[in-house]
Amino acid sequence: MRELVEDFGGGTRSGRPVRTAQVGGPLGAYIPQSAFDVHMDYESLSGSGAMLGHGGVVVFNDSVDMARQARFAMEFCEIESCGKCTPCRIGSVRGKETLDKIIAGANLEKNLAVLDDLCVLMTDASLCAMGGLTPMPVTSALKHFPEDFGSARQAAE
Ligand code: SF4
Repeated sequence: MRELVEDFGGGTRSGRPVRTAQVGGPLGAYIPQSAFDVHMDYESLSGSGAMLGHGGVVVFNDSVDMARQARFAMEFCEIESCGKCTPCRIGSVRGKETLDKIIAGANLEKNLAVLDDLCVLMTDASLCAMGGLTPMPVTSALKHFPEDFGSARQAAE
């Protein structure tokens, strides 16, 4: 992946340092630049908590706000949800609302815990990959970029 992004892709369009790349589409994981030394195949990406998905790679420079990217995942799910099952239909709305509170710095510890629970619920209880995979970009952003989600997350780890 590093060869693809840095050698073939030439890094970011702006020329600013690479911070992360999202692999596999809008429901794919965010992989930090430090973890780019991974083979671009199903097994390797799966082993690093990501997925190959449709194979798309979107590169972000160091100005990206990962809490807002996590919110985008929930908003994407809200818009794309077919509405058949509750974890996806309602979970995505609650996820977006909770991330809005986190971004605003409101009651961080509680809202980060709510977001964690919501991600588990959506992963385990959604009927299809739409709701089931939406937590992947959210949890990967939380895992690799806790500093973008406020001080409560950093203090908890
Ligand atoms: S998880 Fe799938 S079935 Fe359930 S509401 Fe979302 S898109 Fe529809």
